[in-house]
Amino acid sequence: MPGCGISRLYAGRFFLEAPQVITLEAIPLLRQLSRPELQALRFIAQERRYAAGQEIFHEGTPGDGVYFVKDGLVEISAGAGARRVFSRLGPGEIFGEMAVIEHRPRSATASAAGATEVYFLPRGELLPFIERSPGLALALLQQISHRLREFNQLHLREILEAERLAAVGSFARAIVHDLKNPLSIIGLSAETFDMPGISEELRARSQARIRKQVERISDMVGDILIFTEGKPTNTAIQAGDYRAFILELVADLRAEAEIKSVRIELENVPPATPVPFDPRRLSRVFHNLMHNATDAMSGGGTVYLRFDAGEKESVTEIEDTGPGIAPEIAGQLFQPFATHGKAHGTGLGLSICKKIVEDHGGRIWVRNEPNRGAIFCFALPLAK
Ligand code: ADP
Repeated sequence: MPGCGISRLYAGRFFLEAPQVITLEAIPLLRQLSRPELQALRFIAQERRYAAGQEIFHEGTPGDGVYFVKDGLVEISAGAGARRVFSRLGPGEIFGEMAVIEHRPRSATASAAGATEVYFLPRGELLPFIERSPGLALALLQQISHRLREFNQLHLREILEAERLAAVGSFARAIVHDLKNPLSIIGLSAETFDMPGISEELRARSQARIRKQVERISDMVGDILIFTEGKPTNTAIQAGDYRAFILELVADLRAEAEIKSVRIELENVPPATPVPFDPRRLSRVFHNLMHNATDAMSGGGTVYLRFDAGEKESVTEIEDTGPGIAPEIAGQLFQPFATHGKAHGTGLGLSICKKIVEDHGGRIWVRNEPNRGAIFCFALPLAK
């Protein structure tokens, strides 16, 4: 690009086209030095040339001096086997300063990415110079602190990336796990449906069961997508018959719970007061809470459902006969990815419940009482 003055892009940085070669005096880090100091530096600086690919120093070797890039490009890399380049330095930039100041072996390897020229300041001559020049000492310190900060950020990004990948992995495992229940019901119902000589009524029931489970899977996938994308959810919330909804839902929940030797007992019937709700999404809350309850009662047990209605809201309680909430997780319940004591836990179940209940204008919480299992409660506002 003639005339624009910027030609090369190295590792996301632009370097001025002319002059590519930088004099010692023009190096940003040295600009604040006095004229006699610069003269003394020029005296100890050695100019060295490296061919493309040639090593300037190797990880683990003694730190014998500091380098400034005069021309070309230097790559700093580390690690055994497949080396990872974590920095690329162009004219005017310093490298190799850490090992010199600490007097420890080089923590990385520096090599010329193309034909490169450097200024080399040997440690033995540089150290007495740094001691006499507070300006240079400060500049070096700032440089080192800047490098450490850059390195920390890189490191932090890598940790976050690794955590994210681990979370995605366990998320995928748990989705597969969650899909198993509806899929096995579909499988069983399909077998019943195909059985010769079964009554029309049983065939219709199997078909309805299959349809319901397919809906459940698609709801589940939809919820997860909405949740992971963080989009606000437009729920189809309408005042409906909460009592009829619960009675129908409990029949489904029972069919599933029986497979795990879990009984469901209704302590009372839901109040007949109208509650605005989205039946598809609210059933997801019950399914999630039921799954957690059956997970907590691996040898089987009982889930009690009870209902109460005040002036402003209708409260639903789901209590199990498991061990209750483990203290390790108690403070983080309802937070995404908070899971404890499960091989396939994603920690999304309760946070999805919370989102659905809050989308209804309600609230959800948990109670632990001595010698009782977990008691999950949620309140939904009554129709105005
Ligand atoms: P996940 O089930 O994928 O771990 P959840 O958000 O559904 O994610 O639950 C988070 C954690 O809360 C569970 O890992 C478990 O430790 C605890 N928990 C939830 N429900 C119960 C329950 N009924 N009894 C005991 N612990 C529970």
